[in-house]
Amino acid sequence: MRWQTIAKEAPPAGPRVWDYAEVRDAFSWEQARAGLDGLPDGRGLNIAHEAVDRHAAGPKADAVALRCVDGAGVTDITYGQLRESTNRFASVLGGLSVGRGERVFSLLGRGPELYTAALGTLKNTNVFSPLFSAFGPDPVGERLRLGNGRVLVTTPELYTRKVAPIRESLPELRHVLLVGTVGEGTRIPGGIELDSALAEADPGFEIPPTDPEDMALLHFTSGTTGKPKGAVHVHEAVVAHHATASFALDLHDDDVFWCTADPGWVTGTSYGIIAPLTRGTTLVVDTGEFDARRWYRILQEQRVSVWYTAPTAVRMLMRRGADLARDHDLSALRFIASVGEPLNPEAVVWGQEVLGLPIHDNWWQTETGAIMISNYATMDIRPGSMGRPVPGVVAGLLERGKDGRALVTNGRVTESSTPGEMGELALRPGWPSMFRGYLHDDVRYAKMFAGGWYLTGDLARCDADGYYWFVGRADDIIKSAGHLIGPFEVESALMEHPAVAEAGVIGRPDPVAGEIVKAFVSLRREQTPSEELRRELLAFGRRRLGGVAPKEIAFEADLPHTRSGKVMRRLLKAREMGLPEGDVSTLETAQ
Ligand code: ATP
Ligand code: MG
Repeated sequence: MRWQTIAKEAPPAGPRVWDYAEVRDAFSWEQARAGLDGLPDGRGLNIAHEAVDRHAAGPKADAVALRCVDGAGVTDITYGQLRESTNRFASVLGGLSVGRGERVFSLLGRGPELYTAALGTLKNTNVFSPLFSAFGPDPVGERLRLGNGRVLVTTPELYTRKVAPIRESLPELRHVLLVGTVGEGTRIPGGIELDSALAEADPGFEIPPTDPEDMALLHFTSGTTGKPKGAVHVHEAVVAHHATASFALDLHDDDVFWCTADPGWVTGTSYGIIAPLTRGTTLVVDTGEFDARRWYRILQEQRVSVWYTAPTAVRMLMRRGADLARDHDLSALRFIASVGEPLNPEAVVWGQEVLGLPIHDNWWQTETGAIMISNYATMDIRPGSMGRPVPGVVAGLLERGKDGRALVTNGRVTESSTPGEMGELALRPGWPSMFRGYLHDDVRYAKMFAGGWYLTGDLARCDADGYYWFVGRADDIIKSAGHLIGPFEVESALMEHPAVAEAGVIGRPDPVAGEIVKAFVSLRREQTPSEELRRELLAFGRRRLGGVAPKEIAFEADLPHTRSGKVMRRLLKAREMGLPEGDVSTLETAQ
């Protein structure tokens, strides 16, 4: 292990995980549930009530829920105002007779309307399903069809470009709620201008009884390994959102929180909308795309205290160099977390050196609905580790192909194994935000379970202290000359070289070795590819990794990413082998 543990200082008071084992052992989901209100008069549990109404009815009514930052300046929306706008939205849906459980899709960037739509939809007991606004017509149509979309909330421009060409294939879509003014002569079947509909709607809406098991959210996976799946979540999920906001993100109600995830993937809803609002936090809502200078300015000017981002964004900031960061006052920041891809040890250490704080990795999936494994604010960090399971979550490592035999259960190695052995990461079903199915695909859902475990499809190791280390996706593992090689380890080693910004590693079929390790490398801004640099990187890899080092290195200006920021190794591999690229609907450049 080249990286030293980053130790944390002695505890201040607060609801934090100081003694991990003690907190975990004392924790129960029932107890976590008791920290939420529930609907008045025992009418059930509704996410929107927990996120908005209960704050709006109390001392937080005038506290800022959303701080919207755009080119025009900053607009604050209080919890009281958010209650009213979401009530109005729910009234609009009620007036259109959108029935319980029917799906309301959004095709929007991050702006106040997204929050109004998401939470208003939940209030009316409809199901919210967000799409990437960068999707082209085909992926939009495919998801609306699969999800039986009844209502779509979008802008006239996005509608014209992305929905109009496929509208005829969407007979179930009845209403299109439009953010902005519809131009003269533009005809949108079922189109309603949202602003005027909201202005006319009843601001006093009572949330109907909501069963905690009622479907609330439909999220499509990132499509990194293949065609995206539609994961179904229920209102009960809010118990996990609320608990993990505290455990994993250390959120308190006086924090200013910024989640940079696109609204189109699960983090954008679980932690971009729900979890922080249930904690009464102020959320920064930034409408723009990634831009290093603007991002630092937001951190500085909005006095962001807790920041949740992704490795790909961190790598882009690293690529811009430390000077830009040092030009800004980041003194309000006290906690940084990252999700979505392995966070390379170098990035954790860069955070410590340049931003003054280590970056806390955590792990979860669309299917898990909330953070499952995490580096806590109070916990010593081992750079490169995803951390330890959230209290209430039982994480195991299973021996592959042995139908659910556990090597590790919750950090404890079982008799048949030794610390550090690789296994498939699995979770014991029962946490509140677990997906309840893949929509219209029960067969696939059933295949995700074995021996009483939910199988994540990721491979990991667990050390003697119960820290989990990501190895790779089962699909991406390279089998070379009898070794099993995880791409993450190779990528992380290459990224320690000062010329390298990002690396994506695949197994290229080889008649002798089975597969050989091939790395695709993108360079930092000031670097240019050359034969000399290629040879240097090969040698650097050999020194660091020995036998598992890449045998081939190719330079790429940019690696292919999903819109949620993940390196699409399957695409690197398909291109390398001249095979069809498969589903590329979530590829970052897709328009
Ligand atoms: P698909 O299931 O369609 O192939 P996807 O798995 O990328 O797409 P998501 O649910 O958005 O869709 O991503 C979850 C996956 O992202 C995890 O299974 C894991 O492979 C990866 N991931 C998330 N967080 C981390 C992390 N902290 N470290 C390593 N990998 C992570
Ligand atoms: Mg997945």
